[in-house]
Amino acid sequence: MSGGVEIVRSVADLRTRVRAWRSQGLTVAMVPTMGALHRGHLSLVTTALEQADRVIASVFVNPTQFGPNEDFSRYPRQEEMDAEALTGAGCHLLFAPTVAEMYPDGFATTVTVTGVSEGLCGDVRPGHFAGVATVVTKLLLQALPDVAVFGEKDYQQLAVIRRFARDLDLPVTIVGAPTLREADGLAMSSRNAYMSEAERAIAPVVHKTLTHVAEGLRAGKTGSDLCRDAVETLLAAGLASVDYIEIRDAATLAPVERLERPARILVAARLGKTRLIDNIGVEI
Ligand code: AMP
Repeated sequence: MSGGVEIVRSVADLRTRVRAWRSQGLTVAMVPTMGALHRGHLSLVTTALEQADRVIASVFVNPTQFGPNEDFSRYPRQEEMDAEALTGAGCHLLFAPTVAEMYPDGFATTVTVTGVSEGLCGDVRPGHFAGVATVVTKLLLQALPDVAVFGEKDYQQLAVIRRFARDLDLPVTIVGAPTLREADGLAMSSRNAYMSEAERAIAPVVHKTLTHVAEGLRAGKTGSDLCRDAVETLLAAGLASVDYIEIRDAATLAPVERLERPARILVAARLGKTRLIDNIGVEI
């Protein structure tokens, strides 16, 4: 596509572009993604443009963060549309490496994070956060941006990234950005495309249930009672199963029973073959 965002596929080319910007005194922000971009992703690009002079988006469907029975092979891939969307959003560079570029023969290193990686998605998807932490560490070291922007949509992932960025002294400021939703409350996700029309009609119950739990918490009800009722609501609405719905401390992700500090309500549930995750904050 002429006039569109420039695409680079090698770490060497990525570094050449970043070096040129640095020599002009420009600051750099990065937005890592797995592609199949929607308005939620593009809002991260907008946030990144507010933070730095140049913005790199990466599109890489990272095999190591998918479990053996997960959707790696059917995950949507649409690079041309993604490049067009990034062009429209004002992104300056698209880094779209191959699997061989990211994991050359003999690759043997894993970044694992304890604590915040455990529980929630960490229990349901063993190895997932090690895959995320390893690939994001690589992306940040490859580009060495000043700022990297991640969505609160993946709240536990954001906590994991903040943790290893601090622990490994990565010279990158991690910025969290709010979740973009459809008009009916459903959090935008590349995986929403998996849903049938009937499933799509049911899906908004996930956000509605989070809102209901938040109201209960604010009214002084206990977390365990609220979450038990929430599971029933989700199953009655047609969700196939609920991986978890839990209330955690917004900063540490420690379990919370009553609203004494800012909290986060997090849910993961299955609707047909689609796994939906979402979360909302509750202030005191
Ligand atoms: P993904 O392509 O799913 O790996 O997501 C790439 C980035 O976009 C991650 O930082 C996500 O948290 C973020 N993201 C995904 N969905 C949304 C959304 N609805 N609103 C804002 N950010 C999102």
